[in-house]
Amino acid sequence: MPKIIFLGTNGWYDSGTGNTICILVDTSSCTIIFDAGNGIAKLDKHVDFNKPAYLFLSHFHIDHIVGLHTICKYNFSRGLHICGQAGIASILGKLLDAPFTVPAKDLPFDIQFVELPSQKAQIPFHVTSLPLLHASLTMGYRLEVDDKVITFCGDTGYCDNAVELADKADLLITECAFQPGQQNINWPHLNPETAAQIAKESRAKRLALVHFDAEMYRTIEERKNAREVARKIFPDTVATIDDMVIDV
Ligand SMILES: [Zn+2]
Ligand SMILES: [Zn+2]
Repeated sequence: MPKIIFLGTNGWYDSGTGNTICILVDTSSCTIIFDAGNGIAKLDKHVDFNKPAYLFLSHFHIDHIVGLHTICKYNFSRGLHICGQAGIASILGKLLDAPFTVPAKDLPFDIQFVELPSQKAQIPFHVTSLPLLHASLTMGYRLEVDDKVITFCGDTGYCDNAVELADKADLLITECAFQPGQQNINWPHLNPETAAQIAKESRAKRLALVHFDAEMYRTIEERKNAREVARKIFPDTVATIDDMVIDV
């Protein structure tokens, strides 16, 4: 049974409400991580480093990759696979190098980049990836692990691909950067209503809201309010906070 641990639940920057986005999916055979915000620095509280590890990056906005400079403290004995859109190796190859951080070749474990969808045969479980609606190319992911379907839609506005990825998912995890009623066509993100709409239309079983913009959501109370707004459209909604655990 996959266990989901929300290590970072903020969007944009760290604040008193939490760290930037990182979600751990602990399965019987491997470690799966969605995005590498500063929450990834808490990974060692929870992870068995003897399992193979797969990090899925939604896109390269810095709040989703800033934690990569902390992974040098870990030892993924079976390697770390970093999975994402075409071109990920050349883009991250520049960042995971001097002068930004410890060069990938000097890390105590192997990093292997996996471009999706073209190289998905390298991943030992079923993965579907589709582009979402955001200011730069962002991928959403649907994983089938331990007989459960988990969908992660990182930064996105409402779009058909998000609904498709979440089709009857056991758990849909979506961003919720905006406050209720808030939108911006030039900078697409979800608000609680549009996130809940995706969950309802896809007939997902549960919805977990994450990536609350640190500027828009100053308190945990505001997240609870977002949850109540979402529940009017999709009742089985949780608003995540750092260190929250969900068994799927
Ligand atoms: Zn973001
Ligand atoms: Zn973004």
